[in-house]
Amino acid sequence: MRDGLREAGFGFKDIAQIVVTHIHPDHYGLTGRVKQLSGANLSVHRIEADLIHSRYVNLDGLLEDTARQLRCGGVPQNDLPQLRGASLWMKQFVTPAAPEIRLSGGEKLSSGSFEFEVLWTPGHSPGHICLYEPKKKLLFSGDHILPDITSHVGLHPQSGENPLGDFINSMRAIEKLEVNFVFPGHGAVFSGLKQRIGELLYHYRERKMAIIKSVSDELKTAYQIATEILWRPESGGVPFQELELWDKRLAVMETLAHLQLLMTEGKVEKVVEDDAVLYWAGG
Ligand SMILES: [Zn+2]
Ligand SMILES: [Zn+2]
Repeated sequence: MRDGLREAGFGFKDIAQIVVTHIHPDHYGLTGRVKQLSGANLSVHRIEADLIHSRYVNLDGLLEDTARQLRCGGVPQNDLPQLRGASLWMKQFVTPAAPEIRLSGGEKLSSGSFEFEVLWTPGHSPGHICLYEPKKKLLFSGDHILPDITSHVGLHPQSGENPLGDFINSMRAIEKLEVNFVFPGHGAVFSGLKQRIGELLYHYRERKMAIIKSVSDELKTAYQIATEILWRPESGGVPFQELELWDKRLAVMETLAHLQLLMTEGKVEKVVEDDAVLYWAGG
């Protein structure tokens, strides 16, 4: 980061404010360090701000809740300890910092000739924000809309109740904006926002249909369904068993997010049996 700033002719003292789209480690991890070096204030959506402590300072409750959810999702007992702790290695890259400014969406943030509007776009993370510059028609999309990969949208203890429903609503809200260029959290700057949203909505429709088909005549756990789906569509599809541990956990959580949305739409029902939750679409 230091090199990037220097190449652009800036130093840390030129940073007047820090705005984080969401608190995932790849977006928030260096914030504490940048705050120290620049002295700038940090702005984060209030929902994200409330998750910082349980995610990066005292993780015991979160790990327990995650293990419980994975167990209910049908993850085999042998795989549980590994999947439960699959994200712990990331913690070393994060210097947690408390925000001075808690956003709600709708605020205006000025910087030079730019005036950004804060847009609350829950889904990928419950307090995710995008920054929109209406006069210059620019959108900083964080992980909400990415050009080359589908964002992870999973049901987990910090996700909100219906994250995929939220995510799709947030896409529909963004779709109406006039945008010439999108600056995403991963990948290169792109144009054609409406077309990209169309592709993503098509992907989620297809996946929902595949899940309905999977549970149309048989009760299954989220884990069983996840093993039938091809993951990473952008790279042609990877079977569940070939995924890394971390990606397996994300796959189960993404399947749970789809199932949650399908239940709110009345297309899938759940049946609780002992410790496991089973789903079916045959009702
Ligand atoms: Zn993220
Ligand atoms: Zn990211």
